[in-house]
Amino acid sequence: MGKQELTSFLEDHNVRPTSVRLMVLDCFWRKSEALSLTDLEVIFEDTDRSTLFRTIKLFLQKDLIHEIDALGKQTKYALCDLECDHMHEHIHFTCRICHRAYCFSDISIPKLALPEGFVADHQEYVVMGRCPECLEK
Ligand SMILES: [Zn+2]
Ligand SMILES: [Zn+2]
Ligand SMILES: [Zn+2]
Repeated sequence: MGKQELTSFLEDHNVRPTSVRLMVLDCFWRKSEALSLTDLEVIFEDTDRSTLFRTIKLFLQKDLIHEIDALGKQTKYALCDLECDHMHEHIHFTCRICHRAYCFSDISIPKLALPEGFVADHQEYVVMGRCPECLEK
């Protein structure tokens, strides 16, 4: 995406395009992996943590990104597809070696039959393994 496309992407989601927001969106777009707040802090070392944190909260609120919680360590965030239904019932993959996380939005999770009396409102499915890069090593 060029700057113009990034700008209209934000505007389509009712987010005013500031330079920090454009920069963070661009970063999510370029990297095909999920990023944590700490990852963003390392990438944008000149931007303070609270600004990055507020940007993430806003992107979450406006359905630009979604959380991957089930990784045990830090919450990571992945960019939503244009066709995202925002249920995010798809597979996330995490590499045991490099700890990068990926969003496989076209692989959906099977619906689970829970015991009577239990109602799910969110399910996450994390697959652990090795990414192509680490397999090569
Ligand atoms: Zn979504
Ligand atoms: Zn890896
Ligand atoms: Zn995802």
